[in-house]
Amino acid sequence: MSLHPLPTPGFSFELLATLGHARAGILHTPRGDIETPVFMPVGTAGTVKAMTGDELRALPIDAKIILGNTYHLYLRPGLEVMGAVGGLHKFAAWDRPILTDSGGFQVFSLAKLNDIDDDGVTFRSHIDGSKHRLTPEVSMAIQAALGSDIAMVFDQCPPGDADDATHELALARTTAWAKRSLAAPHAPGQAVFGIVQGGIDTARRLRHMAEITALDFDGHALGGLAVGEDIADTYRILDEVAHLLPANRPRYLMGVGTPTDLEKGIAAGIDMFDCVMPTRNARNGYLFVQSGPRVNIPNAANRLDLGPIDPECPCATCRTHSRAYLRHLYLAKEILYARLATLHNLTFYARHVRAIRDRILADGDRA
Ligand SMILES: [Zn+2]
Repeated sequence: MSLHPLPTPGFSFELLATLGHARAGILHTPRGDIETPVFMPVGTAGTVKAMTGDELRALPIDAKIILGNTYHLYLRPGLEVMGAVGGLHKFAAWDRPILTDSGGFQVFSLAKLNDIDDDGVTFRSHIDGSKHRLTPEVSMAIQAALGSDIAMVFDQCPPGDADDATHELALARTTAWAKRSLAAPHAPGQAVFGIVQGGIDTARRLRHMAEITALDFDGHALGGLAVGEDIADTYRILDEVAHLLPANRPRYLMGVGTPTDLEKGIAAGIDMFDCVMPTRNARNGYLFVQSGPRVNIPNAANRLDLGPIDPECPCATCRTHSRAYLRHLYLAKEILYARLATLHNLTFYARHVRAIRDRILADGDRA
């Protein structure tokens, strides 16, 4: 057995088996164990859209950890509400671990008129245009108020087509902001993960990895992938970089991706994933199946199809309803559609990652 205590008390990472660079383990947290590799459903605004906590906790999804978005929760409902209710766990009635991002990615991608300087970012809310400022210290204070179990450092994520000068400036800021995030007050028992940037240049990635892993983080993330670069470059960077992250800490690939991306990421040595793809695709009519391409539910081919979305899927949607019924609900814009479709896609993702984990445990070397 290989149990590694992490810097934050109550957290440890247990490595069970390895298969090539792929790893199966358990991230132990004060709010419960997280079997890795793990896919974390995204609960942007304090809700994994269309799902209840009971549905997420129950098999076959059995989500051991979900995400919350600092940017969204800071703007709405805001810190006054969050302080009054005692944090996101109580507010959302979710008793398992929560990871919060730092808000940086949303500020750069969603907010209007963001203005970056070496100290932080000034931006206008995408909701009402109000002006706000996010710095490493402010991000950590918001994440402390949310009371997440894992907080992410505030970083600058350049777009996939950014030039060298933009990348270098972003790297210098991200390292400086990582130090400031680590030094800022956290919620009691809150772990903090560092983020490695550097785009698709391997040497730059490795240089930044050395700077970030020299700091005492509980885990390490690769940020700035799947942000518009060619998918071949995403996979190349994963293959060249992920397995070089410290082996005794969890490794997290942020905001990626498709079922194939998860397979590639796990093979490269990643332990944790999040992405809006299963939930957003569900609402947009795309449903994942074990064999074959995604089902596009509004297609006329499904009009008289009385079979389930996926005969191999144990979810309540597949056990109860036909493709024809789901197509009807989608076209009629019935709100039940979003619930049934999301339940199915999250089941697919959970089972996909669990099957890979089982393979690593069965065929891999014991750690
Ligand atoms: Zn299903």
